[in-house]
Amino acid sequence: MDTPSSARTPALDAMGPAPLTGLRAPLVDRRGRVARKVRISLTDRCNFACLFCMPSKEKVHWLPREELLSFEEVERVARVLVSLGVRKVRLTGGEPLIRPNLEELVRRLVRIPGLEEVDMTTNAWFLAEKARALREAGLHGVTVSLHSLRRDRFRQIAGMDALPRVLEGIEAARREGLAPVKINSVAIRGYNEDEVLDLVDFARDRDISLRFIEFMPLDGRGTWDPEKVVSGHDLRAAIESRYVLLPRGRGDGETAQRWGFEDGRGEVGLITPITEPFCDDCDRIRLTADGQFLTCLFDRHLHDLRTPLRAGATDEELAERIRASYDKKPAGVQYLGDLRKTWVKPRAMHAIGG
Ligand code: SAM
Ligand code: SF4
Repeated sequence: MDTPSSARTPALDAMGPAPLTGLRAPLVDRRGRVARKVRISLTDRCNFACLFCMPSKEKVHWLPREELLSFEEVERVARVLVSLGVRKVRLTGGEPLIRPNLEELVRRLVRIPGLEEVDMTTNAWFLAEKARALREAGLHGVTVSLHSLRRDRFRQIAGMDALPRVLEGIEAARREGLAPVKINSVAIRGYNEDEVLDLVDFARDRDISLRFIEFMPLDGRGTWDPEKVVSGHDLRAAIESRYVLLPRGRGDGETAQRWGFEDGRGEVGLITPITEPFCDDCDRIRLTADGQFLTCLFDRHLHDLRTPLRAGATDEELAERIRASYDKKPAGVQYLGDLRKTWVKPRAMHAIGG
């Protein structure tokens, strides 16, 4: 499905980045929010089955392979998005490293004039073997999901006895110079909230930025409940039982409230979509592995780009379709009220791209 490598010539490399061409007016929705970052999901498949993300392994239905965008198609949409003002790409899934030759896609993306950064979020199972090739292809940073430091518990949460391999992946990413290396951790009441300080110490020891994410109602098992959400407030209280946190604020369009430590080592971010949403200056959009454009994690509507893409639409037509869809970006999760009553997800997280 993926195309063979299109080698870049040394002569082309010597020319430096190509000039920006085909720029269009930026994507601005009716609330004035400008899209700057896209999360591109490369597959809904995953070798893990995290209980807050996927249905159980027996119940999951994968998207048919022919429905997934090829690397050429992903690159094409990315180019159109960059022409519309998008500046950063994050590759995700499912598990993005399941796609063979992912480094080839990275190589294609980093050459897009105007695109400033390509990062990836991964469960790290394949990271140790891939870190060097990814860095050489031009990948910037990598965010590894790590929800427990206890081997049994990791297996219970992720459905895979993978902790040693994930830790190796983190070390390989640091050793190979991927930057920044960050850790994402979803805290769930009754599962891992007692590990907040252990995870903080693990990250500080390695000078890694750690982000705790509140559990969102995007799981594949229908088990989300507000009672299971460990709030940013509670996370902060747990960390402050040992450390003095120094506020670093939340940058425009950023998801995390960031905090530093008195000794300057490490940083912790609290991502609080449920208890303190940050939708008013959101600058993110999403592309699913099967070519559906999603304006918001809490949008019920998937906007099909794959059909026009495969029917021969021009870049201009794709751009117009994206613009018309983006204009309908919903206000945000805080306007949905009681999520248990109002929220009907179109898909689980692994099939959207976290
Ligand atoms: N497989 C990769 C990984 O696990 O990092 C990338 C895809 S995963 C869907 C992206 C991020 O979404 C992960 O950090 C994961 O922990 C987070 N995530 C998944 N389901 C979630 C949920 N229901 N609430 C909050 N975060 C979730
Ligand atoms: Fe897979 Fe990532 Fe979802 Fe876990 S969070 S099941 S690793 S896609």
